[in-house]
Amino acid sequence: MRKNIVAGNWKMNLTLSESVSLIKELKTKINQDSLENTRVIVAPTFVNLFAATEVVEDTMIEVAAQNMHFEDNGAFTGEISGKMLQEIGVNTVILGHSERRTYFGETDEILKKKVEKAIENNQEVIFCFGEQLEERKEGKHFEVVTSQVEKALFELGAENWKNIILAYEPVWAIGTGETASPAQAQEIHAYIRKFIAENYSSELAETISILYGGSVKPANAKEIFSKPDVDGGLIGGAALKADDFTAIVNATI
Ligand code: PEP
Repeated sequence: MRKNIVAGNWKMNLTLSESVSLIKELKTKINQDSLENTRVIVAPTFVNLFAATEVVEDTMIEVAAQNMHFEDNGAFTGEISGKMLQEIGVNTVILGHSERRTYFGETDEILKKKVEKAIENNQEVIFCFGEQLEERKEGKHFEVVTSQVEKALFELGAENWKNIILAYEPVWAIGTGETASPAQAQEIHAYIRKFIAENYSSELAETISILYGGSVKPANAKEIFSKPDVDGGLIGGAALKADDFTAIVNATI
């Protein structure tokens, strides 16, 4: 059975002390004994990752990075490699977030290289994809999401998909307060799962966790997560508040 996952993308928020405090609060609020079928992940900014790995020690909370480069090292000023993350105990990385695509020019080709490097390192990838508002209005959302997934991931061997988590994040729902309806989320998740089944196998497709992201809040989490192809969420704004994030985690239980 595939696992539910609730991952908090903290983006460029929280200083070191704020990050440590939030994790400490989560440690007291999240009932660790209830996490048999739910993984809880937090993704602080790079400079706070190492401290985060120390604070989560002996808990069920995991730490992920928000990005990484596709080379191991070299003349790439300001960049961070997968090897650097692994040495500080961070083995999961978010790739393809729409903010990276939009503000930092990350193309399908760049993302393919990043995913392949992460897989080579045996890292786990939370791969984000999703359509813009205009694309949905024009009825191109199925085409856009399949193209994003196919271009970055479909040269991976079936055995590498054990390290892939998908996150459908319609761009029009990120940070806007606008949420895809549970039915809209389910429709895309089922479509992507079928697309994977057709290109790999239905056995593989059934094992892939597909998260929904876009203005998930305590008030809407339960209904979205109740859909059969929605396996948890990638959470932005609400991940910065311990009570809200805990309530969203509890919505998977
Ligand atoms: C995100 O940035 O991945 C996200 C889903 O943000 P929010 O929950 O704030 O819409």
